[in-house]
Amino acid sequence: MVIVAHPDDIEFGCAGTMARWIQQGATICYVLVTSGDVGIADLSLSQEEAMTIREKEQDAAAAVIGVQEVVYLRHPDGMVVNDLALRKQLVREIRRFQPEVVVGMDPTAVFISENYVNHPDHRAVGGATIDAVFPSSGQPHLFRELEAEGLSAHKVRKLYIDSFGATAQVYINISAMMDLKIAALKKHVSQMGAWDPEPMLRQWAGELAKGKEMEYAEGFRVITLVSDEDWAKKGGANVFSMAEVVAAAAQGVETPGDEESVPQPLL
Ligand SMILES: [Zn+2]
Repeated sequence: MVIVAHPDDIEFGCAGTMARWIQQGATICYVLVTSGDVGIADLSLSQEEAMTIREKEQDAAAAVIGVQEVVYLRHPDGMVVNDLALRKQLVREIRRFQPEVVVGMDPTAVFISENYVNHPDHRAVGGATIDAVFPSSGQPHLFRELEAEGLSAHKVRKLYIDSFGATAQVYINISAMMDLKIAALKKHVSQMGAWDPEPMLRQWAGELAKGKEMEYAEGFRVITLVSDEDWAKKGGANVFSMAEVVAAAAQGVETPGDEESVPQPLL
């Protein structure tokens, strides 16, 4: 599951990695917190009309990559706040889709370069994503009312943070996916205008790949929240219902796997 602020954030960011994971059999869901309704600088266009255009462009970009699902939360563009309401919305999506990996934006990235300040929506959504992934989505008592929607706690195995390569520790080889990534970005016609984004995308991805055995890369900071050993013990299953936890506690045994599956203190 990828969680971002605006249409085109994923295509500038991690779309190459998503294409690769899909070709390896992954199912991917994009969650867009806003639909980019102030992202078209044309006052003759209403924000509603802009939203419609940008969602269509995002759907087309997702289709290029082969993404199975795109969710729009439709917060007002440019006004996103990392509050409990947004955290709960993201926890709902995580508990519903049950991703093994969540890819998010970096809330600590403010000054990306000498001529760009990271968008406040990117920072707010990045913070909300991290807060939703850990610990909220995995705690059965938190947002327990979501059980009424049939949604139980879910622990995400790994968090991938896309920070424009600034704090990357893991590099994904997207050389074979570069054409797809460029084609997906070009679907955002309203944002490209006459500008051809291809040279810049190739330059960025080429710089991230420098010194590695790849031509083009995307870089991430990766936080492993469920260890490989614990993940293997669960056989990949990663869902914890309140009933399982209560039953296990009553019997004095741990739920399938290990101590990871009992409620943890809020840190
Ligand atoms: Zn953006």
